[in-house]
Amino acid sequence: MRESERRYREVQTALAHANRVATMGQLTASISHEIKQPIAATATNAQAGLLWLRAQPPNLEEVREAFNRINKDMRRASEVMNRIHGLVKKTPPSMESLRINEAINDVVDFLHGEIVKNLIRVQMRLAPDVPTIEGDRIALQQVMLNLVMNAVEAMSAADERSRALTIATRIDESGAVLVSVSDSGPGISREAAERLFEPFYTSKAGGMGMGLSICRSIVEAHGGRLWASSNEPHGAVFQFTVPVAAQAETAVSSTVPVQKE
Ligand code: ADP
Repeated sequence: MRESERRYREVQTALAHANRVATMGQLTASISHEIKQPIAATATNAQAGLLWLRAQPPNLEEVREAFNRINKDMRRASEVMNRIHGLVKKTPPSMESLRINEAINDVVDFLHGEIVKNLIRVQMRLAPDVPTIEGDRIALQQVMLNLVMNAVEAMSAADERSRALTIATRIDESGAVLVSVSDSGPGISREAAERLFEPFYTSKAGGMGMGLSICRSIVEAHGGRLWASSNEPHGAVFQFTVPVAAQAETAVSSTVPVQKE
């Protein structure tokens, strides 16, 4: 029993990882833009620095500024790389004490290019007083990544309306941290509402249909709940809770709803 449980968890972790890698694949164009930009700026600054050095007399103040800009841009590029690495590398699930607002901001920064490309207006309403939670940072960021990407995709199909994405955190009535992702897309059809969280349910041509079922398992493994509802006047809202004194299962690796024998 213990051996089959272990293998079951391994398969779940591997599937969650595959889902993250697949999402990264979708983001290739906007991620490469985020990296190319500081690299191009670095080339320009290096040329400018050389010109100021060759000047008679050399303008060392300008050279110093060019180096500073190079430094800043390279740090930006390496931050992007670190975020990709953090999400793509294979790591065993691990619980840590984390600030959910920071983890969310990180994901939104990461998706900045995709959000701009799709002309989406983002509103962040993160309550400053949400308490620190116990959680698996990568797993919870994967939930955010999936929910935000779903919202972006839903809105890019409905281009007549203004595209608005709102991400909020607050403490709910039970004292748990509540995270919500609301969009102004077409919303959830009656048929989809019943099947959203089923593995392999998708309405997209290139969809896998694993995102939401993985998200729900991750949230439940943290002792929380994930559900969908309608936004006003149109669109969808996905909300999840994470209890503060995490009654998380010992193995947060139960992240994918694979059918057990
Ligand atoms: P995939 O994105 O691969 O389709 P998901 O499990 O993430 O898989 O989503 C399942 C389905 O739920 C989507 O195909 C879509 O029909 C619906 N859905 C998810 N998020 C939204 C949203 N924000 N607005 C409308 N429909 C949504």
